Amino acid sequence: MLKKGSIRIFTFLGIPVRIHWSFGLLLVWIWYIGQRTGMEWPAMGVLALLVFSLFICVILHEFGHAIMARRYGVITRDIILSPIGGMARLNRIPEKPSQELAVALAGPMVNVVIATILGLVGWFFLPDKLTVIGDTEISIYWIGNFLPLLFWMNIMLVFFNLIPAFPMDGGRVLRAGLAMRFGRLKATKWAAYIGKLIAVLFVALAIYWGHFFLGLIGVFVFIMGEQEYRAVKTDMLLQHIKLSDVIRTDYQVLPPNMRLVDAMAVIRHSLAVNIPIGDNAVELVGYINARDLISQLKSGDDAANSEVLGIIKTFPGEFMEHTSIDAIMPIFQKNRNACVLVRDIWGNIKGIIDSDQIDHALYWHNHLK
Ligand code: ZN
Repeated sequence: MLKKGSIRIFTFLGIPVRIHWSFGLLLVWIWYIGQRTGMEWPAMGVLALLVFSLFICVILHEFGHAIMARRYGVITRDIILSPIGGMARLNRIPEKPSQELAVALAGPMVNVVIATILGLVGWFFLPDKLTVIGDTEISIYWIGNFLPLLFWMNIMLVFFNLIPAFPMDGGRVLRAGLAMRFGRLKATKWAAYIGKLIAVLFVALAIYWGHFFLGLIGVFVFIMGEQEYRAVKTDMLLQHIKLSDVIRTDYQVLPPNMRLVDAMAVIRHSLAVNIPIGDNAVELVGYINARDLISQLKSGDDAANSEVLGIIKTFPGEFMEHTSIDAIMPIFQKNRNACVLVRDIWGNIKGIIDSDQIDHALYWHNHLK
């Protein structure tokens, strides 16, 4: 959802840091606040510097998660920054509770370290130590408050992130703690309950105080709690369904030298999006996708007479029939139109799987339980 509309600003330790377009709104907000309160340009510069520094702290927080995850062999796809915070998108969550706990705590720990350094510098070198001078409207524009404000913001980041509700780090800490005793699914269910309870509390307080932003966070937290539980439930399900339960075997194999028009005639009468290609049913060389076929047919005058060989795709993976579905999910997350080949232990082809089979299997499992 977030990756669309974000651009890469730099890559550090092999992890791309991306910034979401809505970040521009933040700059507009700074400019608006500056205009409304009649701020001078230098004052607005201080505010911009403060926001910039805060986001550096957020990026470092996310790198805390990413570096700890790397220790357990989990790859971070990217780090995305939006005005409401950062998010390190891990390829997977480490399933060992102790590892998830370490990854979740690594982020806030970074802010503890930053706050400690800022705190020591402020305590020993600033005349008013860590006190923020002036009322809130003015204090954020004064350079003398820069260090104390950044110190308190890091402290706030630690406490905010440790609220025990998804998607905050505290939610993961709570789940990991519960999972050590009750298993991952139950732990997630309870952590999601507690998270949703906190979300309701947020919304109630938001109404009571007339605080719009807090209400928004509450709604967001509520939705995320439910999503997290569903994702884990699906994960568990995927581990229990075997490839042999979902394979498609009722396909027709087309020869590589078949003309596209003839292939089209076959595909039109089949419900499948992928058709295997091979000289016989015993060994397949790849598959063609209905969408590729259509766009190829539209591409030129003589396209209809060209061979399917031109649009053939090799199977992105071959798997044993007793493998569980979760092993092939990354392939479909990368490409929904992919097609996977399934063999038995003797190497004979048992069938193929495309995303429709998986959707179908999940639908029935979700509705029969
Ligand atoms: Zn975090």
